[in-house]
Amino acid sequence: MTALVSTIAEVQQAVGRARDRNLKVGLVPTMGALHAGHVSLIRAARAETGFVVVSIFVNPTQFGPGEDFSRYPRTLEVDLDICRREGVDLVFAPAAETVYPADFHTYVEVHELQDVLCGPSRPGHFRGVATVVCKLFNIVQPAVAYFGQKDFQQARIIQQLVGDLNLPLEVRICPTIREADGLALSSRNRYLNGEQRSHATVLYRSLQEVKAAVEKGERDPVALQRHLAERITATPGAILDYAEVRSAETLRTQPRLQGDVLVAVAVKFGGTRLIDNVLLQVGD
Ligand code: AMP
Repeated sequence: MTALVSTIAEVQQAVGRARDRNLKVGLVPTMGALHAGHVSLIRAARAETGFVVVSIFVNPTQFGPGEDFSRYPRTLEVDLDICRREGVDLVFAPAAETVYPADFHTYVEVHELQDVLCGPSRPGHFRGVATVVCKLFNIVQPAVAYFGQKDFQQARIIQQLVGDLNLPLEVRICPTIREADGLALSSRNRYLNGEQRSHATVLYRSLQEVKAAVEKGERDPVALQRHLAERITATPGAILDYAEVRSAETLRTQPRLQGDVLVAVAVKFGGTRLIDNVLLQVGD
């Protein structure tokens, strides 16, 4: 049975009852418009915990002016069907005023990690994400929380805040789920028209080319970034936001690739901004 609640007290009661039954609590934070990427997180939570909470909240503080907050897809009924089918125990879908009452004044920032990659083109975005996720952690008090590698910078920021603030939970980063042609599933893919949709495969294709080049021995991040940028800018309708090769741990640039490496791209098609990445383990 999947229960739907919208208040913090209801969440606390339901989670408290689960904890009384010695069930481990798993949390999957989402903005709804659920797809197979979200479902993979729910299944990971189901496999590892006994009480799965999915939050559905289109978080206003993580959208900048001119971004898609008002037109972001809201599909609660379909989302609930998916949650029921997947055996989710509790769906928390709060109103904005519940999360941000009129006298709300506290924000969480993860410096450095929030300032690179998507940070410069989305000022305030990660502050909004870190703040809402911190609140969700405090409300639900999960033992484990699940995030997708598709939003790798976000997941790293959450890992960092959990460590820095000594939050008593584990963060799992789950693999990116893709369409058959490699496009990472995203609630925003539905904004793409047919032509944009077919050209959007350049993100995955160019990332795979970089992976192959690294496997062949390329260790120069600048050469790899140049390759990504050339492939993307040569694609009709694609506007490059960034193409970066960085340390997956610090998100800093490296003079020469080594260790856990993040290859990440952000590309706009019309008003739709898509991101994707691959992680590589690079030896000498
Ligand atoms: P969102 O609803 O877009 O905020 O995403 C909620 C969670 O689902 C985040 O942890 C995302 O990283 C994750 N997610 C989104 N798309 C995918 C995907 N294609 N594969 C795996 N996880 C995903």
